[in-house]
Amino acid sequence: MNPARKFTARPGQAPPFGLDTPVQFLKSVGPARARALTRLGIETVGDLLAHYPRRYFDRSSTVPIGRLGPGAEATVLGEVLTCSDRRTRRGGSLLTVTLGDDTGVLFCVWFNQKFLLKQFRPGRKVMASGVVQFHGGRPQLAHPDFEILDTAGDDQEASPGLHTGRMVPVYGLTAGVGQHWLRNLVHQALTRMEGLHVEPLPAGIRRRHQFPGRAEALAGIHFPADAQSREQARRRLVYEELFTIQLLMALRRENRRAQAGLRLAKPGDLTRRLVDGLPFALTGAQRRVLAEILADMRSGRAMHRLLQGDVGSGKTLVALVAALFVIEQGHQAVIMAPTEVLARQHGVSLTRLCGPLGVSVETLTGSTPSAERRAILAGVAAGEIDLLVGTHAVIQDDVHIPRLALAVIDEQHRFGVRQRSRSALAADKDAPVHVMVMSATPIPRSLSLTLYGDLDLSLIDEMPAGRLPIETAIVREKDEAAVWDACRREVGAGRQVYVIYPVIEETEGQDLKAATVEFERLRQDVFPGVRVELLHGRMKGREKDAVMTEFSSGAIQVLVATTVVEVGVDVPNATAMVIHNPERFGLAQLHQLRGRIGRGAHASRCWLLCDRYLAEESFARIRFFAENSDGFALAEEDLRLRGPGDAWGLRQHGAPGFRLANPLRDGELVRLCREDARALLERDPTLDGPEGGIVRRGLAAAFGKYLPVQAG
Ligand code: ADP
Ligand code: MG
Repeated sequence: MNPARKFTARPGQAPPFGLDTPVQFLKSVGPARARALTRLGIETVGDLLAHYPRRYFDRSSTVPIGRLGPGAEATVLGEVLTCSDRRTRRGGSLLTVTLGDDTGVLFCVWFNQKFLLKQFRPGRKVMASGVVQFHGGRPQLAHPDFEILDTAGDDQEASPGLHTGRMVPVYGLTAGVGQHWLRNLVHQALTRMEGLHVEPLPAGIRRRHQFPGRAEALAGIHFPADAQSREQARRRLVYEELFTIQLLMALRRENRRAQAGLRLAKPGDLTRRLVDGLPFALTGAQRRVLAEILADMRSGRAMHRLLQGDVGSGKTLVALVAALFVIEQGHQAVIMAPTEVLARQHGVSLTRLCGPLGVSVETLTGSTPSAERRAILAGVAAGEIDLLVGTHAVIQDDVHIPRLALAVIDEQHRFGVRQRSRSALAADKDAPVHVMVMSATPIPRSLSLTLYGDLDLSLIDEMPAGRLPIETAIVREKDEAAVWDACRREVGAGRQVYVIYPVIEETEGQDLKAATVEFERLRQDVFPGVRVELLHGRMKGREKDAVMTEFSSGAIQVLVATTVVEVGVDVPNATAMVIHNPERFGLAQLHQLRGRIGRGAHASRCWLLCDRYLAEESFARIRFFAENSDGFALAEEDLRLRGPGDAWGLRQHGAPGFRLANPLRDGELVRLCREDARALLERDPTLDGPEGGIVRRGLAAAFGKYLPVQAG
């Protein structure tokens, strides 16, 4: 964004007008206004038209003045009776205009808008909209939106019928950009764009879904004739946003499908021995997804699969069976985790499971000492190590895994760079490596089709039997003694406890409880005679490792931690969790945290400890969490409250869509787009045919700079 970008519009030499045209070419936009618009992300006409209304006022019908009621938004059509201006006690000005119709008189007032005086000549017809208040029994509108209906020859920049008497758009604003002015500007752009649109959707698709043309849709979203035409416009524009993404995802998927993958034979001895040796049976869902995964790996094409399953649904075991499947046929596998704590924990539990089978497992993280690292790399390169577990450290350039056949990426949404971690693992092989990403974040299906549209989806929709529900309570800090009593009882019964804080150290001006400070208090005063330890992200890998290992083995009873334990940590004997300042966490994050308990045979409890009075919406969110344990319900609520951009880090992913689209509401359209995109690529794999050409040119023209993702 370069607000200082200069250009001169020479009279008589009108530039070609289009979506790329800088907004300064529009009337009434000078350099200052143009700068203000950049704060809304608006530099071009295309940006302006994609600055969709936040909401609308329905001013399509007028109310007789005599029938106005207090508190409601209303539109009135009247004649100016009087217009006067007087000074207020504070030295400002108060402009009062009275409007009359057959049924009564309405007062309209403005503070410090003296310049409006000359527009309200008595006798003029005016339409005014605003929230009605009653003063001394008389109806009044303060600072109403208005339109003077007979302004011929006047200086008013009138666009009759834009601000009242219809469905009126309400835009997000910034300093220097007023609602009225922006509305006029959008209207001006729409008028000048007429007949100029590049249509990015093939006629076949438009016909099939009965979409309006692009110009009509843009007009319909900004200045809808009625609710129905607005919805039609919205559907079409949402479709367009989602279709882009789906098309790119489908292209990626097709490219991958064309790649041959290592074809693996039937499952052998190792997988069977592992499963037979488990103290429990696999759930039906685990068996089903394993069948899907094994079928992929036997198909001769490279697997690209997303394994989704709620916290505690047993994804690790599925990953291990898949890994053993390639290992028993002489290949190697990698399991990658987003944090050091998790990688090490996987290392420990997988080593335990693999030891009796004669499968060799090593763990590699950023803090593995260099001598050990060299030894591991040598072992991997020599093919002596079958399963390599680790963090990003496993995709460094000097890691060579000659017989790599499967890469599993756990909790993969936590890797900011999902594309990179996937392709890095798959890259330096002749036959593409089978890739499976796993996510415990229960992303609503419509959204996961968007984010992971290039992957095949397997869902674990069943929890291991015998899990007891976790009882969750919201507790004020003054009642914390009871919570600690209960925790001590758990410890006394041989169980373990997590105490979670949102921050590591206390910072000035923030009275949030910090883990390090509270740790001392808990150790000395609250849990005397019990082993309490601290775990946070700034500790060295070795230290974290030592603490986690001892907590897993039961040597530590109370673990005071930050969100480092959020993901994946599995200690079934831990049955209690206290979360301080729960309002500081997102719903999905809380769900992950709470997922650390309730993993074993004993009943578990979670306390949300609030040290302040929460704002109503924060409290409602926390209560929703306390009352719901279903990850999908929580994810949808999170999405509803925060929007897809914030809830799922879509902004970081650079996703072009979601200006209008809402994956919760538009799930049906996501599915349509996905089918259409796949069907189109089937007909025209390289997008060189007539339809593909339209899509290609149209999308580039309509979305140009919003297309960060490269196909392939
Ligand atoms: P997540 O899906 O959150 O990664 P894990 O793989 O960590 O879940 O599994 C959670 C716990 O459930 C582990 O202790 C694991 O051993 C156990 N588990 C996995 N599958 C089953 C099963 N079929 N029956 C009982 N317990 C299981
Ligand atoms: Mg896990």
